[in-house]
Amino acid sequence: MRSSAIRLTCPICDESVSVKPIARVAVDDDTQLASDLAHGRVNSVTCRMCGHVGVFAEPLIVVGSSVVAGYVPVDVPANRKAGIAQRLQKDAKTATGAGQRIAVCFGPRQLRKEFPHLPWPRRLPLRWHRFDDPGTPEHRRRSYERLRESRPDDPILHLRLGTTYHELRRYRDARRILHVALRSDPTNADALFALASVELDDRHAGEAVRLYDQVVSLTHDALPRYLAGVAAFRDKQYRAAIERLEIVVREKPDHIDGYIWLARAKLALDDRAGAIAALRMAAENGLKNPDMIMRHRDFEVLTSDGAFKSVIAAIRKQHDMAKRKAERSDRRVGDRGERGRPRETRPRRRR
Ligand SMILES: [Zn+2]
Repeated sequence: MRSSAIRLTCPICDESVSVKPIARVAVDDDTQLASDLAHGRVNSVTCRMCGHVGVFAEPLIVVGSSVVAGYVPVDVPANRKAGIAQRLQKDAKTATGAGQRIAVCFGPRQLRKEFPHLPWPRRLPLRWHRFDDPGTPEHRRRSYERLRESRPDDPILHLRLGTTYHELRRYRDARRILHVALRSDPTNADALFALASVELDDRHAGEAVRLYDQVVSLTHDALPRYLAGVAAFRDKQYRAAIERLEIVVREKPDHIDGYIWLARAKLALDDRAGAIAALRMAAENGLKNPDMIMRHRDFEVLTSDGAFKSVIAAIRKQHDMAKRKAERSDRRVGDRGERGRPRETRPRRRR
């Protein structure tokens, strides 16, 4: 059984936290530990920097007078379950005396079934909050705000807090906090990118273009350049949008969304031939779903155009070919296994 200390990293503030996991709880010998178990406080970890709390989600052996249970946290990754079950069985056997039976419990509610006499809280959650899970945006916001008192100038903290305010759609707060991150490091590309995304979502598309362009000049990445194109389109700067999107698709020829926005910008300038050429490029570079174009209201004006029809036909053909290919490989899988399938839907075997 494990008893040595384990180092964890706080998902909120990156602080290193040490925990000495408990591997075995004898609920009838120790009422305090039994109460802790029922309230999810066994192997509970608190970060001393930001106050983030969660359980170190490892299996436990819970020993009662008539039952020895292996407790497995609900959200243990599937690839670890078999190994854990094996270890639990071995551990449980050595802990089992005469007249005790062995059970395996997933999650707190199954544990309550085996040990109904523990002081369970009235509202028992499906799972206890794991320490390595940063939690909801509101939970993170509170932890980051607490941290700001001790780290008023930390750019990484302010970047994370600003992004969290963005997730909460509190754009004004997000902007204010990201400016703190940029104060100490004005060319922090991550903070500029985050700020640009806030401006785009808060309908300040012109400001978003300026900020994304700044990120491009620092990183030369395709994503900020593409988003600068989208923001320029939203700001009705169609020529600026085309300029940026043309570079995106030249550098990344499989950037399907890039072609579609490019076509929309060209169409906004009444350049039908240019729009259709962009859509044809999308088709030639892997666009297989005709709905991506057909569902767009912008492209409705093109439906009677012969060149547009030929592009759609080409996409449909690719779509059907891809579908047939997928069906063929499905059939091969069906030949090997899946005996449970009803006979009439089972494909005929080739011998
Ligand atoms: Zn922390």
